[in-house]
Amino acid sequence: MKTVVLTAPGEDLVTREKPIPELSRGDVLIKVDLCGICTSDISAQRGDASDYSPPVVLGHEIAGVICESRNRNYLEGQKASVDPVMCCGICYYCKKGLTKFCPEICGVGHDIDGGFAEYVRIPKMLADTEGIAVVPDEVKPEELMFLEPLACCFGALEETPLGENVVILGAGPIGLLFIQLIKREGVRIIVSEPLEHRRQMAAKIGADEIIDPSDVSIVEVVKELTSGIGTDAVIAATNDPSVIPETFQMLRRGGYANIFGIFPHDTSINLDVEQLHYSGHKVFSSWALNRKDTKAATEEISKRELKLEAILTGKFTLAQPMEAFNYVVSRKGIKAAFAP
Ligand SMILES: [Zn+2]
Ligand SMILES: [Zn+2]
Repeated sequence: MKTVVLTAPGEDLVTREKPIPELSRGDVLIKVDLCGICTSDISAQRGDASDYSPPVVLGHEIAGVICESRNRNYLEGQKASVDPVMCCGICYYCKKGLTKFCPEICGVGHDIDGGFAEYVRIPKMLADTEGIAVVPDEVKPEELMFLEPLACCFGALEETPLGENVVILGAGPIGLLFIQLIKREGVRIIVSEPLEHRRQMAAKIGADEIIDPSDVSIVEVVKELTSGIGTDAVIAATNDPSVIPETFQMLRRGGYANIFGIFPHDTSINLDVEQLHYSGHKVFSSWALNRKDTKAATEEISKRELKLEAILTGKFTLAQPMEAFNYVVSRKGIKAAFAP
C-alpha cells in the first residue's frame, strides 16, 4: 500500500510502499477514505514538534471503513473514525477521564503509523478503550474526517465560558468549527481573519461580525461592538503569535482567553503579571481531546447538521505529499486531506 512517511523532522515527506498492516488479536484495520491534514502534521514535518517518532506514517484525522476486525466490539463494513490518543487507562489522569494528560500517551500518526495511507491498523489498546468512533453509513467521509478536530473544539468549549460575545481569531478549519458550535448557543460571534476567502466562509456559516485585521484595529472594533467593555472570551484559533497581546486588550475584565492554536516552537509572550492580576483575565489553553469529547463529536457528526464538506477545499493523492502540505501552508484554501 502507499503511505506518506515522515522520515526525519525538517525533511520533505516521502511516499513509500509498505505492506498492508497485519492484525494481532483485538486489532482493527480501517481502509482510509480520507485523512485530514492537521497543523500538528505541518509542525511535525517542519521539525517544530520534537516528540514524533520517525520514521512514521503521519495522519490522525481519519475517515474510513472497517475492513477487518479482530475485536468483538467492531464489525467489518462499519464507517469509522479514530480518537488517536492512546493512553494507559489506569493512571491518575485516565481514571479522571483526562486521557490526553496520560503520561503514557502516544498517538496514531504520531508514535505509530497513521492515516496518510491506504489502510491503518488500530491497535487493541485503542479499540478496547473506545478509541474507534462508529457513525451511520450515510455520513460522508468529507464529514467524518472532521471528527478529531471537532472533538478538540468540544473539549475547548467546555473549558471556555462564552458570555454574550466571543472573538474567534482565525477562520481556518478550527475557527470555522468553533463558529458553528458557538452559533447555537446564541452568543454573538466576532471573527478576525486576514484572508478574504476565509472571511467569506466565516460569514456563510454564521459569524455575526467579521473583521479584516489588516484593515482596522481589531481591538478598537471589538471595543466598539461591546460598548467599550470588551469581549467575554477570545479563542485564538491561529498560530500567529502577534495576535496574543491584542487578545488581552480586547478582553473585558475577568474575561477568558483560550490560546487554542499551535504556536511555533519557543514562542513566548510578555505577560504583565500585575496587569493580569487586576484585569482578572483567565488565560489558558485547550489542547487535544478526551474520550468524552470524542463521544460528543461522534454524536454531532452522526446528526449531519454541521457544514463540514464546504470546509474541505483540497484533496490530494498519497503521491503528492509536499503539494498537499504546501497547499495547507500557503492558506490558498481552507482544509486539505489525502484521498488514498
Ligand atoms: Zn488534528
Ligand atoms: Zn494513563
